[in-house]
Amino acid sequence: MNLKKNDIIPLSITGMTADGLGVGRYDNFPIFVPLSAINDSLMVRIVKVTKRFAFGRIEEILNSSSDRITSDCPYFTSCGGCTYRHISYKSELAIKQQKVTDALSRIGAFKDLPIQAILGDCRQSTDGYRNKALIPLGKDKDGKLQMGFYAVNSHRIVDALTCRLQPAEFNLAMKIFREWHRKYPCSIYDEFSHSGLLRKLYLRKGEKTGEVMVGLISTKPKIPQVDELLAALQESLPTMVSFVVNINPDKTNVALGNRNITLWGKDTIEDELCGLTFDISPLSFYQVNRNQAEILYRKAAEYAGLTGNEILLDFYCGIGTIGLSMAHQAKKVIGVEIIPDAIVNAKENAKRNRITNAEFICGDAAQAALELRSQNEIPDVIIVDPPRKGCDLSLIETIVNLSPKRVVYVSCDPATLARDLRIFAEKGYHVTEVTPVDMFPRTAHVESVVLLSKLKSTDAIEVNIDLDEIDLTKSESKATYDEIKQYVLDNAGLKVSPLYIAQVKRKYGIIERDNYNLGDSKARVPQVPLEKKKAITDALRHFRMIDN
Ligand code: SAH
Repeated sequence: MNLKKNDIIPLSITGMTADGLGVGRYDNFPIFVPLSAINDSLMVRIVKVTKRFAFGRIEEILNSSSDRITSDCPYFTSCGGCTYRHISYKSELAIKQQKVTDALSRIGAFKDLPIQAILGDCRQSTDGYRNKALIPLGKDKDGKLQMGFYAVNSHRIVDALTCRLQPAEFNLAMKIFREWHRKYPCSIYDEFSHSGLLRKLYLRKGEKTGEVMVGLISTKPKIPQVDELLAALQESLPTMVSFVVNINPDKTNVALGNRNITLWGKDTIEDELCGLTFDISPLSFYQVNRNQAEILYRKAAEYAGLTGNEILLDFYCGIGTIGLSMAHQAKKVIGVEIIPDAIVNAKENAKRNRITNAEFICGDAAQAALELRSQNEIPDVIIVDPPRKGCDLSLIETIVNLSPKRVVYVSCDPATLARDLRIFAEKGYHVTEVTPVDMFPRTAHVESVVLLSKLKSTDAIEVNIDLDEIDLTKSESKATYDEIKQYVLDNAGLKVSPLYIAQVKRKYGIIERDNYNLGDSKARVPQVPLEKKKAITDALRHFRMIDN
């Protein structure tokens, strides 16, 4: 393509990338254009050309897409926080639906998956949903305070007084901080020279309870005139219940350090979710959009299909919200999470909600899964809710070996979700249903919840009936498959499938070979692990089906 920088070309926008760039084709050559809308007719100035595509900027809108609306934020386009303030929420949801569909078909190579309609935010407005904000602090070239949000794909701060995605209290806290800093111009951290004190303003709100936490992320614990800031916040922000300093002295892009000092009030704030009360520490993850989190968890609970008898594993559990919200429908819940503070919260959260059938383990999910397996904690349903990078392969392998009936995968990144679902599918888990959920209106991010079910060919109940029917020596046997299963569970604490029992029976000549091989035997001959073989043998001995 002989396009070059600064060429001006006509372009029709026909699609949207996963990051929210409009895309059109010029002589079949893809051109990506920020801030455009599907069905826009544009004149576009080329800003960068590569071998396979180019980037352009809108020079003129010839014919505006019917998706377009007027942006209601003065910082939109310079601030990187929102991607879609120029199109209607309805068209944003359609783009997100397509994003999930595209990832699953292109990356996951799935065809015709049952992808349900996206669960959007049905409230009157999509404003004010963010219950947590990290406001970067910096200085301009004249040394004046800059605070606000990062520009798109950059660490350049766009100085902003307010943000529509956050609640009014956060905008007020930003204003109070500015005024305090004007009076007491305390040192601001500079990420290039790695010098200075204050890095970020940290804000969190329990949406249902109204409780607000204000924090300063600082390289050192001692902040000059911090009492003045506290007093101003207390005066104007009566819902503030906690004022903390988080110490982050490291040369890093990670926002928070490990140490928190509570300067005033509580160490945590409270919120209510799914009828339960949760304690949240500064370092703990909590879904950023409470209303949509309830919708997401409701769908996850529907997919988990609990009846009260199941052992439920909740991997990447954070402060325990998903597992605890389902605990009343399960026999037992085990949550696993890597951040120690979150586990402290999770245990406390179980107690305060009087939930006695939940345990929490602090550690890496893949490692903990292996340990649970070695302790014969056999789950019926597993939930995973990993960060953007998705699940470790070793975790997926251990989950498959634990052999739960259902896996519910909650994901904030369709690309890693698609990759992981493909692995699950190849290991015998069927993608039964996918529901996208809009947790982050006006941004390009989209959440999904997926039900994976263990493939039918290994379905225990079906096979059970089959095997009892074809077992020639049944009339002589002292115990049915169910009785043997129960004996093994009671005595060895192991769950064994009828297939395993059949294999061991066959080894002792209890089932005729020909009959056992009836039907699609290929799928039905798994290898019995040694410990289970021993436990089943003990059961057969107990029921006097074999000699001692
Ligand atoms: N399910 C929770 C949290 C989901 S966010 C909720 O809905 O609120 C993902 C969580 O995974 C975070 O709390 C993060 O600390 C945790 N995490 C990240 N890597 C992990 C790992 N290797 N093992 C266990 N937990 C991990």
